[in-house]
Amino acid sequence: MSGRGQGGLSVLVVGAGPAGCATALGLARRGVEVVLIERGRFPRDKVCGDVLLPEAQQALADLGLDLAPLAARCHRIDRCRYHAPSGLCVELPFCDRHGESRPWWVVKRRDFDGWLVAQACAAGAGLCEGVSAVDLVIRDAAVAGVVVRDDGGARREIAAAAVVGADGASSTLARALGRFERPAAHLCVAVRGYAPSPHGDDPVFDIYTSARTLPGCAWHVPTGDGCANVGLGVLRSDLDRQRIGARALLDEVAGRYPELAQRLAAATGVVGWSLPGASLPLSRSTAGALLVGDAGCMVDPWTGHGIHTALIAGSLAADVVADALAAGEVGAGALGRFDRLWQQRFGLEMKLGWLLQRFCASPGRVEAMLALAARSERRRQIIGGLIGHAYPRQRWLDPQLGLRFAIGR
Ligand SMILES: Cc1cc2nc3c(=O)[nH]c(=O)nc-3n(C[C@H](O)[C@H](O)[C@H](O)COP(=O)(O)OP(=O)(O)OC[C@H]3O[C@@H](n4cnc5c(N)ncnc54)[C@H](O)[C@@H]3O)c2cc1C
Repeated sequence: MSGRGQGGLSVLVVGAGPAGCATALGLARRGVEVVLIERGRFPRDKVCGDVLLPEAQQALADLGLDLAPLAARCHRIDRCRYHAPSGLCVELPFCDRHGESRPWWVVKRRDFDGWLVAQACAAGAGLCEGVSAVDLVIRDAAVAGVVVRDDGGARREIAAAAVVGADGASSTLARALGRFERPAAHLCVAVRGYAPSPHGDDPVFDIYTSARTLPGCAWHVPTGDGCANVGLGVLRSDLDRQRIGARALLDEVAGRYPELAQRLAAATGVVGWSLPGASLPLSRSTAGALLVGDAGCMVDPWTGHGIHTALIAGSLAADVVADALAAGEVGAGALGRFDRLWQQRFGLEMKLGWLLQRFCASPGRVEAMLALAARSERRRQIIGGLIGHAYPRQRWLDPQLGLRFAIGR
């Protein structure tokens, strides 16, 4: 197949969130013709906790972006306060193994996504806003384009040599490919709103748990503008088992923590969303198409973060698609390389994330870990580093770390 679809584009990316923008940026940088279609119009909101982890910051730097203007807008968070079901509360710093602080950057998605899409356009990607993908065009058993509908309801086909589905948790493209598996044990359900907060400028993120939320939790994330992001994320299977909705469970948790109740009472725009976990084994490639970000179930199953994985997956997808186009072959074999690269980069990390999620499903185990942490600064650093993604999770496989945790020094 040539670099262009029959009379069409080289690459069409559906969805201009972090995954789509990173893909488009990577392709544009490699000189590949790429167009993003986005059903919304920027600036637009996205339900999120608004945290850019150290890995997300690194992924943005790896995309060759000048981060100074973004960094100037972000609020820094350098630790969390973990509230266990018993009421035990321990402060955990986000430090790497040398004790260096690795702060989170907090920026509202309305601002971050608008900034990122502008970077993709500046790199040469095209952008069509107010255009929704409604189906795939399949020719000779391969994806050959997308059926789209514009704001006015008009439908048309856009042909493309390769299509990248980056259309988020409710992905139309994943459905069209028959890859929309969302089993309740691998799906997190979340609600989030914004509240004015006297602690909105603090560098501390609060995690509130109860026996019914674990391994999930409620949170209070200061956004640095006198406001805070408040919400809750839990496994769909736990909600189903306990016959309760996410919003009702958030209210229930707030009933145990007066400061959370106060913040929640003033919150506006409390909206629900889902997070498809990367614990689900899934092929994200087929002839002519890839799925990236939430569309391809790439959310960390333990911490619920998905911006860094979306950005890194977008970069990997851009390389795979650009190489495939250059070789004149975008079949299942060539694009299947993406699945292998994802697996190499995130396979072990996501497996460990799933194990940590299972570990934290037990209130007794969480209490025991926190009680140990309360007695040692070293343990607080180790757990805080894990929660804050301040160092690779794989380090837990290092016996030395286990030993340090055991002796607490
Ligand atoms: C409550 C909550 C809190 C979270 N907190 C964090 C956090 O603090 N940090 C973190 O790293 N992750 C967090 N996540 C996860 C994170 O939001 C996602 O993993 C991340 O946004 C995935 O990026 P994406 O580009 O794949 O999808 P999205 O950001 O969802 O972007 C998809 C884009 O596709 C567009 N689109 C959808 N359908 C179509 C269509 N048919 N046609 C055209 N366009 C379409 C959408 O409008 C959107 O712009 C949170 C998620 C939730 C729900």
